[in-house]
Amino acid sequence: MKLFDVTNDLVRSFRRIRTQLSDSASANLRLRIVGARNIDSRQYELPTGNELAGLKRITSLNPKFDSLHFPVLFPYGEDGFHVNIPYDVVHTPPTLKHKFVTQREYYAFRLQHRDDEGQTLMRGGKALQHYVVDAFSTIEQNRLYYLRSHQEDLRSELYYGDDIGNVILPSSYTGSPRYMKQLYLDAMAVVHHHGSPDLFITFTLKPEIVARVFRMKLNALEDELNRSHFFGKTVAAELPDPELDPVGYAAVTKYMLHGPCGDDKPTNVCMKDGRCSKYFPKLFNSETTTDQFGYTVYRRRDSGITASKGSVELDNRFVVPYNRNLLVLFQAHINVEVCHQGRLIKYLFKYITKGPDRKQKLSHILARAAVAETTLTQWFVLNQTYEDARCLLYAQTPNKYMWNLKKKMWSKRKRGFAVGRIVYINPGAGDTFYLRQLLTKVRGAVSFADLQTINGFPCRTYQAACQRLGLLSNDDEWLLVLKEVN
Ligand SMILES: [Zn+2]
Repeated sequence: MKLFDVTNDLVRSFRRIRTQLSDSASANLRLRIVGARNIDSRQYELPTGNELAGLKRITSLNPKFDSLHFPVLFPYGEDGFHVNIPYDVVHTPPTLKHKFVTQREYYAFRLQHRDDEGQTLMRGGKALQHYVVDAFSTIEQNRLYYLRSHQEDLRSELYYGDDIGNVILPSSYTGSPRYMKQLYLDAMAVVHHHGSPDLFITFTLKPEIVARVFRMKLNALEDELNRSHFFGKTVAAELPDPELDPVGYAAVTKYMLHGPCGDDKPTNVCMKDGRCSKYFPKLFNSETTTDQFGYTVYRRRDSGITASKGSVELDNRFVVPYNRNLLVLFQAHINVEVCHQGRLIKYLFKYITKGPDRKQKLSHILARAAVAETTLTQWFVLNQTYEDARCLLYAQTPNKYMWNLKKKMWSKRKRGFAVGRIVYINPGAGDTFYLRQLLTKVRGAVSFADLQTINGFPCRTYQAACQRLGLLSNDDEWLLVLKEVN
């Protein structure tokens, strides 16, 4: 307390007011915590005015917000974030659009250990955790407020038409439906290029193991998987024989047994409505097979080998599928499952909700193309210039060319590689949808007109061009279109 009295201006101000109030009960006093900041961060307006004092809420943008909330972390009553913190002019690139430090940048800067700084904040224990959570929420809150108050800009930018009433969260907003959808489409583009994944691996790691994973790097992991794949031992769901493989047996027992649950332990976390939500125990199974939905059913023989967990003996029906070598290597819960044709990717993203994508008018996009060179119009330019670009589909361009955001043009990739995908367009979007369809088939087009010229025949619309290419002859496609429109 003494410390605060000596060091903290805020504490001193509050105390002074309290003393003055108790000295003369009739005094009308007011303490104002000023939000605006110039150069002197210790500027206060001390008790003045005739208005009656009352408690007032200050916003998270107030420089004293953190100090008032966490006096122990900021014993000097120092300033926290406010909107007028200028960048360090020496180290800031002149191209940067905004002049002042953003809230996210501010907290990112604060939450670093620095040898030449006091450690009060970073050693704040639970108060630090509280501070971090608060920082996260205020950043989110302010971002959401921004998005809410800039809906018009967002709408016109994203061409989402007349979706009035709903607040649109753009795909840049982490966790929003559009963000999830982008991730899903990115994943599908990667699958499209590299083929379906073979394995689906989930890790539950302890901090010391995370460090080891980074040391080992992913290629070692990959080697390990390839080696076990070669021996046909990628995934197992049985307890190893403790006589033949005591190390494997110990690891599986320790990390890969589910339960006990069910009657043995009805309170286990997996129990929902009186049964195991993970469907344990599984059935005994003499061979690895595939079920009618394409999922792998692993071999679980009734071998008589068991392991005790608490007072319960568990057998092969309780083993979570694993890779023996990975498990022994990392000594952690690592679930390895065989993957089937992108099904798991879809499963991963099953919570994607359909965003309110509406008809996008092609004229908008063309108008936009007229203002700024887009990746598409520059693709035409690329095809006009380089012959070897003409063998690539639009979505394949990033394999060999790089989009230069500044110059707004494609340039040859010197190293590296990227998988591209065309922005998803709802089939109900009309012409834009057909344009997109064309781009998945036509190589080397040098203009919009060229794109809809099929085998020398200039089609009047993209839809007609699609038809001529035979893209619409498939009943499924029509079905899809109809389905989506309704
Ligand atoms: Zn269970």
